[in-house]
Amino acid sequence: MRFRSASASVLLEHAIKVEFSGRIALVSSFGSESATLLHLVSEIDPAIPVIFLDTQKHFAQTLSYRAKLVTKLGLTNVINVLPEGDAVSARDGDGNLWKTDPDGCCTLRKVEPLTEVLSEFDAWITGRKQFHGGGRMHLPAFEATQTHIKVNPLIRWSKDAVTNYVENHELPPHPLVTQGYPSIGCWPCTHPVADDSDVRAGRWRGAAKTECGIHDIKE
Ligand code: SF4
Repeated sequence: MRFRSASASVLLEHAIKVEFSGRIALVSSFGSESATLLHLVSEIDPAIPVIFLDTQKHFAQTLSYRAKLVTKLGLTNVINVLPEGDAVSARDGDGNLWKTDPDGCCTLRKVEPLTEVLSEFDAWITGRKQFHGGGRMHLPAFEATQTHIKVNPLIRWSKDAVTNYVENHELPPHPLVTQGYPSIGCWPCTHPVADDSDVRAGRWRGAAKTECGIHDIKE
């Protein structure tokens, strides 16, 4: 495989400038580890489309962190993707669907909006890493779905490598990290965890659910 041992920068440069030029987007949650990938991408092309799924359930700290990173990194094409208004009214009128049907809530607020916006692209970049565990442990750097190529440039990065990168480039931390949130999503489904817990242990705590479903998009 040509890119088996390539660095994240080399892999991203090839994907953004050559293989999928003008047809690739980065999907970012602006969560606890997002600054690293956003910085790497901004060094190659600060105008790359950055898709943010605005579920309307984000922590206020995530929204302020997003604004801070966008300014610091000079990102010029952040796309705020909202769930479709009529669908929210019909399926989650009281905003509490996450309590009774978290899979349905993620479908409404993440999967469907992302599916729609990704129809404009051939490839997307994710920040998934093998040390997150679960189904992420055996992912390759390039992944083909029925309709898109997913690029996972940080897949082999360790937690220490991410920490070192952030420190070396003086990137600001998400304000909730120091409050015990190593992985950050929507506020109803994200909880602080003990220091020695798995990174994603605070996501959908107490439920069998471990992923929101955006990585299962087929078409
Ligand atoms: S993470 Fe929780 S609040 Fe956010 S879309 Fe999924 S179920 Fe809904």
